[in-house]
Amino acid sequence: MATLGVMGGGQLGRMFVHAAQRLGYLTAVLDPDAQSPAGLVSHHHIQTDYNDPAGLSQLSDLCQAITTEFENVPAQALQTLAQARPVAPGAAVVGIAQNRIEEKAHFAACADVSGVTCAPYAVIETQAQLQAVQDERPDLLPGILKTARLGYDGKGQVRVKNAAELAAAWAELGGVACVLEKMLPLTAECSVLVARGWDGQVVSFAPQRNVHVDGILAVTHAYEGNMPTALATRACDAAVAIAHHLGYVGMLCVEFFVVDDGSEHGGLVVNEMAPRPHNSGHYTLNACDVSQFDLQVHAMAGLPLPQPRQHSPAIMLNLLGDVWFDANGQPREPDWQAVLRLPGTHLHLYGKVQARTGRKMGHLTITGPDVASVKTVARRTADLLHLPGLEAI
Ligand code: ATP
Ligand code: MG
Ligand code: MG
Repeated sequence: MATLGVMGGGQLGRMFVHAAQRLGYLTAVLDPDAQSPAGLVSHHHIQTDYNDPAGLSQLSDLCQAITTEFENVPAQALQTLAQARPVAPGAAVVGIAQNRIEEKAHFAACADVSGVTCAPYAVIETQAQLQAVQDERPDLLPGILKTARLGYDGKGQVRVKNAAELAAAWAELGGVACVLEKMLPLTAECSVLVARGWDGQVVSFAPQRNVHVDGILAVTHAYEGNMPTALATRACDAAVAIAHHLGYVGMLCVEFFVVDDGSEHGGLVVNEMAPRPHNSGHYTLNACDVSQFDLQVHAMAGLPLPQPRQHSPAIMLNLLGDVWFDANGQPREPDWQAVLRLPGTHLHLYGKVQARTGRKMGHLTITGPDVASVKTVARRTADLLHLPGLEAI
């Protein structure tokens, strides 16, 4: 039996392991945490640091091919693994996605073929650049200062209204490499999942519309009519063009903003990309005949990529650690009985022992025969569990 490997042991790795196992593969997870959600369900758990040469060679000895489940895996480690085994996505593209400066440069480089640009921005890596932006780029304010590396779920970002706040924010972020992005008038956000094989074959899912609360994904709407068709087609084409231009292999998620630009449906702006399956694609597990994790397995293992078909409209609700605490901050067990009694509710829990505010503990996907009934059950569920984003359902 062949073994597939994954760098990182979070929930994305866990769902990858489940998909790989269904196809008869053994799995190996490299993650330093003894309690990692993927390590707990994998045949092999190499419990060591991502840069540990012994751990990396153990992983490549065991595995036919290796993938990654979190974007901050050291690109150098992927390069080391690639000397021994196929690694998808590769170190170079993961390196681009890990750095907003390189990522935006890539988006700019393929704007002609993708048809989309990113928000106006400037790079701030030095005091002199900060000064220059303060003096010469008032058009970027109000804006969002984002660290070039290591940010996620809105962490490593500060919203700034004026030049003085910008200087304070840069100091607060430690004076590290950043980008200042103009704050855009968003009317919606969406993301597109693309799988690309070693031979350049590409399949994709229709765009899902995402609602964030406090910088963290709260709700994903996945059904026909979730956004204007013209925009959906443009987003899908853009994501495919970006994947091709990168020479990407594996699952890629590209996030977009829909902005009010006075046009009928609004303009499309590319935000960022994740070199892996994505939280906004979890609905594919229950609403599609092929999930984003199935495609990740197919792509890395060199299997044909089936075009996924969505068989049910769906809404995904994220379950953050907050759900495990009442209004007074006292721990409580969420009322799963009540939630699972509702039709079409699919509960996914990631096996994390410790619930913390803002920590992704699981998600719920609601499927049904039509959009109206899915929305009704989603509202009821969000209400039962006191989830944010209820007004957006
Ligand atoms: P993720 O967890 O998706 O990786 P992240 O921390 O990398 O998130 P972004 O996707 O850059 O952060 O931003 C988080 C959210 O903040 C976006 O989904 C959007 O709601 C808002 N946001 C970010 N940039 C802008 C912008 N230029 N204008 C308006 N809103 C923005
Ligand atoms: Mg991000
Ligand atoms: Mg994002």
